[in-house]
Amino acid sequence: MSATYTVVNPATEQAVTDVAMASLAEADAAIERAAEAYPAWRDTAPGERARLLRRFAAVVDEHIPELAELEVRNSGHTWGNATWEAGNVRDVLNYYSAAPERLTGHQIPVAGGINVTFHEPLGVVGIIVPWNFPMPIAGWGFGPALAAGNTVVLKPAELTPLTAIRLAELALEAGIPEGVFTVVPGKGSVVGERFVTHPLVRKVCFTGSTDVGKKIMAGCADQVKRVTLELGGKSANIVFADADLAKAAAAAPSAVFDNAGQDCCARSRILVQRSAYDEFVSLLQPAVAGVKVIDPSDRSSEMGPLISAAQKAAVQGFVDEVEVAFAGVAPQGPGYWFAPTVVLADDPQQRIWREEVFGPVVAVMPFDDEAHAVELANDTEFGLSGSIYTRDVGRALRVSRGVEAGNLSVNSHSSVRYWTPFGGFKQSGLGRELGPDAPHSFTEVKNVFISND
Ligand code: NAP
Ligand code: MG
Repeated sequence: MSATYTVVNPATEQAVTDVAMASLAEADAAIERAAEAYPAWRDTAPGERARLLRRFAAVVDEHIPELAELEVRNSGHTWGNATWEAGNVRDVLNYYSAAPERLTGHQIPVAGGINVTFHEPLGVVGIIVPWNFPMPIAGWGFGPALAAGNTVVLKPAELTPLTAIRLAELALEAGIPEGVFTVVPGKGSVVGERFVTHPLVRKVCFTGSTDVGKKIMAGCADQVKRVTLELGGKSANIVFADADLAKAAAAAPSAVFDNAGQDCCARSRILVQRSAYDEFVSLLQPAVAGVKVIDPSDRSSEMGPLISAAQKAAVQGFVDEVEVAFAGVAPQGPGYWFAPTVVLADDPQQRIWREEVFGPVVAVMPFDDEAHAVELANDTEFGLSGSIYTRDVGRALRVSRGVEAGNLSVNSHSSVRYWTPFGGFKQSGLGRELGPDAPHSFTEVKNVFISND
């Protein structure tokens, strides 16, 4: 008899459904089925694997409203975001459906024969997904992993398993063979850990907190298991005095409050050049007040609730330590609502400036010049993303090169694009996802010399 988990709608605190949680034995069985399905999937002709992935994308496309509605109820994501997220799974599958036929190696000149390289799939890949973006983060793993010829076992977060479970059903409906893509709902300490320790899982792809990521990396060392980590962030939005301040202030709220701030790329530190600081803050206030925090199923909702009571308490803990400069409005309960909140920080040692809040709270701090901005931006153990607002092209280039982060945008807060690489510097992660090279991170390079004799 397996244990169950009651999924709760974070906007209403109402139970949605019960989900059976896999035991250790059930996790093992799923991994073994994935290992059995691997040889046939690996040996499926590239054009056929491509066709199946395109079919999977088409079936996801047909179910976008259903998937989005499920995510609104399970995760409290706004209808607009959830619809984009389901579409992102479709787009990622379509993009990587081109990979099986393009996974080419090299032919390298040698004496006495020929030398060629192959990108061989790894076998079973274990993907561990957090609750903040259940659909996209799953797809960023399983899209390129399947395209490269691996089979996949995927553990969704306990809090948000529903869309992943549905995606696995849609994969079967699309004709992806049994065992090739299996979703295993369960606890991190049971199913997630088993991906790390089971020898048939040849790579772990983890997105979540830096603390758990470190444990996973340490655990993978035991079998020299391949690992990709996408961890936390404390990204800087750097606004220079020469920027279009109105544009920068109008764009800043969504860069940190989108998904109620539960975004590893959230620009949760705004650095403003001192000479423009007062003007920027006065422009920011109405922009924050204007964020529409309402029922996420309302088509015009811009921000929904936090994921859980525990997350709300954690965010409140950060805010209790500081003085709030101004805040937007949010509904009163039920639901784990938290108003968009702005703190004017002056000490880079403050917890609000250093730690990932993972909620709708932003800290604003002045800086003196370009060097000071880069120094403050880099004074963190994280390095995931960031933004630079300036009209000076040279400065934009210098600061882009100076900030130690994997994903930067100039005069924009670009979100993750599936056809460009994504990942973190420093303790924000290890390896890269997405972009043209992602299938390579789910393969080993094999070098073969064939003699003329
Ligand atoms: P987490 O504990 O790192 O969870 C992420 C995933 O890892 C979940 O599926 C979780 O399963 C699983 N997991 C937990 N412990 C594990 C273990 N020992 N071995 C293998 N898998 C394990 O993150 P969280 O508790 O959801 O959130 C805590 C904080 O992490 C957030 O407040 C935020 O700061 C950060 N976070 C960052 C991201 C990101 O995108 N970078 C995403 C989410 C959270 P369970 O669901 O069963 O715990
Ligand atoms: Mg946790």
